Amino acid sequence: MTLLSASPIALPRDYAIRAVPMTAVTIDDAFWAPKLEVNRTVTIPHILKENDDTGRVANFEKAAGKKSGAYEGRRFNDTDVYKIIEAASYSLALVPDPRLSTKLDELIQLIAESQEKDGYLFPARTIDPQHPAPGVGPERWIYENGSHELYNAGHLYEAAVAHFEATGKRTLLDVAIKNADLVCRTFGPTGRHAVPGHEEIELALVKLYRATGNATYLQTADWFIAERGKPHPDMPPYPDKAFEMYNDRAYKQDQAPIVEQERAVGHAVRAMYLYAAVTDVAALTGNDAFAKAADRLWQDVVSKRLYLTGGVGSRGDVEAFGDDYELPNLRAYTETCASVGNDLWNHRMFLLHGDGKFIDMFERVLYNGVLAGVSLAGNTFFYQNPLESNGRAKRTEYFDVACCPANLARMLEQLPGLIYAVGADLRGRPATNDTIYANLYVGNHADVKLGGRTVNIVQDTRYPWDGDVSLRLEPEGSGAFTVALRIPGWARDQPVPSDLYRFADNAGEQPSISVRSRNASAERVPFDVRDGYVRIRRNWKRGDTIHLTLPMPARRIVAHAGVKDDEGKVALQRGPLVYALEATDNDGRVLDLVIPRAAALRSRFRADLLNGVEVISGEGSRPFVAIPYYAWNNRGQGEMAVWTKEKP
Ligand SMILES: [Zn+2]
Repeated sequence: MTLLSASPIALPRDYAIRAVPMTAVTIDDAFWAPKLEVNRTVTIPHILKENDDTGRVANFEKAAGKKSGAYEGRRFNDTDVYKIIEAASYSLALVPDPRLSTKLDELIQLIAESQEKDGYLFPARTIDPQHPAPGVGPERWIYENGSHELYNAGHLYEAAVAHFEATGKRTLLDVAIKNADLVCRTFGPTGRHAVPGHEEIELALVKLYRATGNATYLQTADWFIAERGKPHPDMPPYPDKAFEMYNDRAYKQDQAPIVEQERAVGHAVRAMYLYAAVTDVAALTGNDAFAKAADRLWQDVVSKRLYLTGGVGSRGDVEAFGDDYELPNLRAYTETCASVGNDLWNHRMFLLHGDGKFIDMFERVLYNGVLAGVSLAGNTFFYQNPLESNGRAKRTEYFDVACCPANLARMLEQLPGLIYAVGADLRGRPATNDTIYANLYVGNHADVKLGGRTVNIVQDTRYPWDGDVSLRLEPEGSGAFTVALRIPGWARDQPVPSDLYRFADNAGEQPSISVRSRNASAERVPFDVRDGYVRIRRNWKRGDTIHLTLPMPARRIVAHAGVKDDEGKVALQRGPLVYALEATDNDGRVLDLVIPRAAALRSRFRADLLNGVEVISGEGSRPFVAIPYYAWNNRGQGEMAVWTKEKP
């Protein structure tokens, strides 16, 4: 997945669908544009400063010999620096910022100077190889079960590719290549037999392959995935008893070969990164068994292990997936990183299959699970994202283990590159190779390259507050192509692509689509949804405008009977947004509220509230007001609930 620009290398095999790069799309709506501005001007600088203030950058200075002292903090803290370089690079691709560019150049210089001669880059060891930081092990990679050496390398590569594509500079890319060459020489069929204790490098090696065309990186990614589940003679047990889970093979999805895995198990973030890589490698090598494994695991996640907010990973003790339907609300762990990983995976699944259900998932996760991870102000973060609070939960400025903030920042910064895609429509009738997929409804203007020409698209919408969307097309020249409009599951009476959640009320008005040419009246388009899309194929002319109407009533959702924590309870959703009841709008308490099935739901837009939100209100056991889940905890602490009892 290349989000910035067309890959410089013509790869022998790839996804049949490609994302329209972020640099071709400008978001200019009232919902996301301000959030991306906050991400760029508040969140990214905030994290850069936290990394400076907490010794994360100093660790590189020490490894480079510019400062004395021991490695500070966790051995995986380097990734907080890499991930924010990645986020800032996307930001530079969209909005030039000489100061930010210089800051990145300085960080990259430091990283380059921290690299050992043969490419090894791990300040936690390099600073004092005789006395490496806790958990790092006496020799390189010997504690890979828990050392995170390969995990750190993966985030280095992702940052390097983003920086290279955004700026054209090879400074960090060359560092990454030197490190990856060492990794590829060290691990493999004739080298060390071990797998990454925390998956991440697999998908990063795929990115490095895309950026360089060096097939060795793809081969090593493929090998790391195929090696999982086999004996690992070069992976002795991690000795720290406090982290015994590192030796549990299921914790790192290593309990069986991936092609035999049926259930999503273990650490949720690790799983998401692995599954994303499995999907990439399936597409780039044509490995059908990998594709089937990804399909199977995806079905398992969406059927039994998914919160309504799109969050995954219900168990806090080891940040892991639970048993079937184990989805507690107050204790929900649902790490922000797991939501980011879930989105990265679902986007790849869409590129592989061209099915809108993956974007349905992507959208649910983005608008709820991901977006709740950051405050409206952009400078405090959730690590855990519970669906219920007794008043104790609150966002904080940074963390000892700070994986989430920069992960969220890099995710949001990529949004322009996740709205459209182009390429094959293997499920169209007939199959075509010239389809523009409109996946997300976000006001923007875009220059979409389709075959040899450009199609300028202006999308106008108040989504997610309103389901009216117009897309004006200005194609160069004439000729037929297909526009595939995603009809979200929530607009088709299917909140998730499984039986895990369902609407408990009637849909009411149905979606509709029309096309209007200049000086002509609107033509209604047959509402024929296949694999989540209505396809419109015609000789598009300049100024042709598609009008999509997705009625957006406030609706009730109930969970599968297997989810005991949601039994007898209802949740509210409107459009893609899951709603939450928060104490401050409800006389200071919400956990005792009852919303009977018969209570009417009203919604209205309140420009004065939480930067402008549509609220849902009604009369339950007392009058209630619900706000979008993502916006909770922006007015102090208090009780919160997504699921509410239907009977006293
Ligand atoms: Zn995290």
